[in-house]
Amino acid sequence: MNPNASVFVPGGYAFDTGVSKQFVKEASVSTLPQVASTEEELQRVLNHLASEHVLAIDCEGADLSKGCWFLQECQPNKLQHGRLCLLQIGTMHGEAFALDILELGERAFELGLRALLEGERPIKVVHDFRQDNDALLHQFGVQMRGLFDCQLCDVMLRRLGGHRTGYVTGSAKLLSSRGILQGSVQGYGILTQEQKQAIHDRFSRDRHLWERRPLPQDMVEYALEDVKPMLQLQRLLLQELVEALGEQDAWQLVKEGSMAYAADFASQRECRCRLCCNAAENARFDGFRFMQRLQALPSQRLNPHILRRIWRQEDAQPLPLPGPSRFYVNEADESVPLPVS
Ligand SMILES: [Zn+2]
Repeated sequence: MNPNASVFVPGGYAFDTGVSKQFVKEASVSTLPQVASTEEELQRVLNHLASEHVLAIDCEGADLSKGCWFLQECQPNKLQHGRLCLLQIGTMHGEAFALDILELGERAFELGLRALLEGERPIKVVHDFRQDNDALLHQFGVQMRGLFDCQLCDVMLRRLGGHRTGYVTGSAKLLSSRGILQGSVQGYGILTQEQKQAIHDRFSRDRHLWERRPLPQDMVEYALEDVKPMLQLQRLLLQELVEALGEQDAWQLVKEGSMAYAADFASQRECRCRLCCNAAENARFDGFRFMQRLQALPSQRLNPHILRRIWRQEDAQPLPLPGPSRFYVNEADESVPLPVS
């Protein structure tokens, strides 16, 4: 893969991803905050990103999904959970920023972030945005647009190759499947898999870890790590999808498919976080619900012949909702696994 290859975006124009731009940007990056937690810092980061055509986006939070913020009226005794804390943004120049949504609150969205997230441009490259979208919609009323979901793109590629897609692929596996290894992308691989696992275990137990301030540096690195290689992955996946479908159909499918996939949890009444259900079952791909959404689109938005190509027999039946949570919150306010009976 040529790292300087052009990236195609709908509308037929291509933009340069060359190294030269990276050097031009570097001088200004050093003055930008790694974590934007004041309105002034947020505006500097958003101004810096204003000319980008494509960004990688990810979120961190405490038991992220719609959470009790949405459910509390009908379930007033429900434990407070499901808070969106950070929103990370990566650029194709290897930069990564975290926006401290916990500190900035609703105001973050009124200072330009809502326009960025709700616009068709820039394209927002994500990896499984279902819980993030659920939180953004129900906690801040954000209606995402312009998504490119790498996990969904992988599902589509496997379907086009004639394979079953009962389960989605995690980001580490998807990256390594395309030869994107730690150290191969600027800033990707600062943390080892063991360090990442240790942090994951920490916030798995400490429900409020992403809500603590100041954020420890290793948590910041952990949060930024995932957005760094995502744009390289997106280029490779898009190239494969274009080879399979042609440019126009590939873009139609990934655009509408990413939106349908992101809407899946947000459109359900149930919270899909780890405290409300067995979130391990979120790794199943519900082809029935996904295809129903796509079939409801007008043909000018998604050509029906694309639907025929990705249809599989298993799409005829919906999946049951995930079973009960495997975690509970103990008297020390920690989330701990239920004993295995
Ligand atoms: Zn929940």
